[in-house]
Amino acid sequence: MAQPLTALNTFGVEATCDNLFRFTSEQDIQDWLAGMPIAPEKFFVLGGGSNLLLLGHIPLTFLKADITGITYEKSGAQVLVTAGAGVNWHDLVLDSLEQGYSGLENLSLIPGNVGAAPIQNIGAYGVELEQLFVSLNAIDLYSGEKVVFEHKDCEFGYRDSVFKNRCKGQYLITSVTLKLNINPKLVLTYGPLKALSDNTDNLSAKKVSDEVIRIRQSKLPNPETLGNAGSFFKNPVITNHQYNQLKSDYPELVAYAVDDSHMKLAAGWLIDQCGLKGYRQGDAGVHQQQALVMVNHGNASGRELLELAAHVRDTVLERFDVQLEPEVWIIGEQDIFTQSK
Ligand SMILES: Cc1cc2nc3c(=O)[nH]c(=O)nc-3n(C[C@H](O)[C@H](O)[C@H](O)COP(=O)(O)OP(=O)(O)OC[C@H]3O[C@@H](n4cnc5c(N)ncnc54)[C@H](O)[C@@H]3O)c2cc1C
Repeated sequence: MAQPLTALNTFGVEATCDNLFRFTSEQDIQDWLAGMPIAPEKFFVLGGGSNLLLLGHIPLTFLKADITGITYEKSGAQVLVTAGAGVNWHDLVLDSLEQGYSGLENLSLIPGNVGAAPIQNIGAYGVELEQLFVSLNAIDLYSGEKVVFEHKDCEFGYRDSVFKNRCKGQYLITSVTLKLNINPKLVLTYGPLKALSDNTDNLSAKKVSDEVIRIRQSKLPNPETLGNAGSFFKNPVITNHQYNQLKSDYPELVAYAVDDSHMKLAAGWLIDQCGLKGYRQGDAGVHQQQALVMVNHGNASGRELLELAAHVRDTVLERFDVQLEPEVWIIGEQDIFTQSK
């Protein structure tokens, strides 16, 4: 019987899958895989559902690692924290700050679970997961074996890792180990946090976290009240040559240097310039304040949100000749999205 997924995705769209199995330990997963007749290509690993757009019925077996627990181990001037894949990410951030360790404060309030954090190398306010990452444990869904991935194995990039490419769909991450600082090393380089560096006398990691939470709550819609999956598109990376051409046409273009030959554009700015901020097609909308965030105003289906996303992508392409790529995972029949104009 089809299993409901509506409460398990932050867009809040109606969706179902063939089966849903939940696990509370690595052994559980290994035992289940040993007797499982379903081909691994038919699996989809679900976390907190905050980076997904689900399209109606998905003919796959969903697996969810509800593995909990957080442990700390001192290692010189640092502390290694290991958290189960099912731990809520923000709960881990708060727990580590309560223990007096710094490192995760800039990543406060990112929705989702620990197990998904390495998949797109989550990042915010000048910090990416990979800067703190040590290793992860996973189960190979093809062999049932336990595997350890160290930093070098994960091939991290901007919102990217080996788990979105070569190893897509192959592993179920069961726990993640990160390194934290005993003596705070605060990162205040990113725009809105720069103001804090004016007076660092009483500044703590907890205060930075509080500020990140305050800024995020003022800028981003809360999925509990307005369905969304955060940034729908990645910020596009273009060559310096293309950037210089665009900059001469649009002097106010918002961009950041990635390396000597590439620039990263603010996708939200491009969408905003196309007049799409606040744009709606029925209940599918572009957020009123954050053009990069697509929202479900009530009863939008996954397909309606996808149609709107395709419209946004095509409008930006036509105006700026820049191709937007989704940051969210689109799961299900996505023909309208793959056929770019
Ligand atoms: C309001 C809002 C704000 C956001 N802000 C940010 C932000 O600032 N920075 C940022 O980087 N992201 C942000 N996101 C996106 C999202 O929070 C992250 O991508 C998060 O890591 C997704 O976690 P999840 O548990 O919900 O994963 P899901 O959405 O359930 O899954 C995402 C991907 O991870 C895979 N996956 C999940 N769990 C596992 C596992 N245990 N093993 C193997 N694969 C797994 C899934 O198969 C899927 O491919 C935001 C989202 C929202 C709704």
